Amino acid sequence: MNSAVLAAIGDELLSGARLERNAHFMAGNFHAKGWEVKRIEIISDDEDEITGLLSRWIGKTDLLIISGGLGPTHDDRTRHAIAKYLGCGLKADDESYDRILSRVKDDPRRYAYTASVRDPQAMIPEMAQTVFNPAGFALGMKFERNGTKVIALPGVPFEYEAMIRQELPGIFAHDEKRVASVIILDTPEMTIAGKIPEVISHSALHVSILPAFPQVELIFRGEPEIVAWAEGLTRSRFEGLALPEGSRSIADAVLIEARKKGVHVACAESCTGGLVGGALTEIAGSSDVFNGSAVTYCNDAKHEILGVKAETLRDFGAVSSECACEMAEGALKVYGADYAVSITGIAGPDGGSESKPVGTVWFGVAGREGVRAVMRRLPGKREEVRTRAVRFALSELWKEIHS
Ligand code: ATP
Ligand code: MG
Repeated sequence: MNSAVLAAIGDELLSGARLERNAHFMAGNFHAKGWEVKRIEIISDDEDEITGLLSRWIGKTDLLIISGGLGPTHDDRTRHAIAKYLGCGLKADDESYDRILSRVKDDPRRYAYTASVRDPQAMIPEMAQTVFNPAGFALGMKFERNGTKVIALPGVPFEYEAMIRQELPGIFAHDEKRVASVIILDTPEMTIAGKIPEVISHSALHVSILPAFPQVELIFRGEPEIVAWAEGLTRSRFEGLALPEGSRSIADAVLIEARKKGVHVACAESCTGGLVGGALTEIAGSSDVFNGSAVTYCNDAKHEILGVKAETLRDFGAVSSECACEMAEGALKVYGADYAVSITGIAGPDGGSESKPVGTVWFGVAGREGVRAVMRRLPGKREEVRTRAVRFALSELWKEIHS
């Protein structure tokens, strides 16, 4: 089995100011290809830390990919650390940098800036080779030592991705399915495990069970035939609760299902402020089945845009079964859709009461068979309540279209 170590360099990653994305992105691709990811390390912009990383892993892994620390400023230390480790100086790769400059020749401001940062960004260790940057300005670098190939790339995620795709095209060609995922709704993880014991205990299969209300995602890793067997068996045992093959999220499943049935969907959102519409439109091509989402945060908007009755709001309040139903019906009408889901709840931290504590969320689902409402008390802080509400709303919508 091939092995890789992924490292991300950046003080901002250690301080929590930014979330690490590059190692995370590559780990998924290596796993899908059947590689072992031995370690993910996050270290600071410090020369000794970087030479320490190189000493730790060179000779012990097939591939070491480093991201970050290649910018033009004094705190970008990766190229210096690599030169120090290799015991050589730095050299300028003017030819590669000229290619980068030629990309911005028609834009005087960018040209002037790129030319001004040329010196550090065109420098690579004498004993390394250049990795051309098709998306940004800093050059990357690579070298081999003691059986380990080391690739160092800028940390800006879209530059990192463009360069790693260029360097390791084979990793992204997923010819065989060594990883499969099945998302199951409304079933506790222990119940799931109990229904597929032979899959869970298979010695040649690695199974991850990842709950995120109201779904549990099972990820299978192993040889392609075993992965296919595990996926097929799991799907057959969870008919109607497992999202269809190829859907990476509940939002994805909603779009797939709507396309299959030739129907259009819409939403009406209060406490999620458009996140359901956001989740659906995050997926390219959603416009063929998703018509729109009304963000009706205040009562007047619910009344005027969606037609929620003033008496409903007065007698039952906005967070109620009645309001959720009228919101969903309103969205159906406003957007000329076949199915609609609504969300109205108390995300907190304020606004809760004894009868409607923080986390109380009503969902309305309107479709061809009429309208229904369902309530959930969602745990967690505002952010968690809202993300759980989004997934739950989409899961109710999926079940409605699927049934
Ligand atoms: P370069 O300028 O060559 O890209 P660098 O990668 O260290 O050097 P920085 O200026 O430190 O560049 O970072 C540029 C941006 O990329 C910052 O917003 C930073 O937070 C982000 N970034 C860097 N590394 C990562 C990473 N591993 N995951 C997510 N974001 C990152
Ligand atoms: Mg950095």
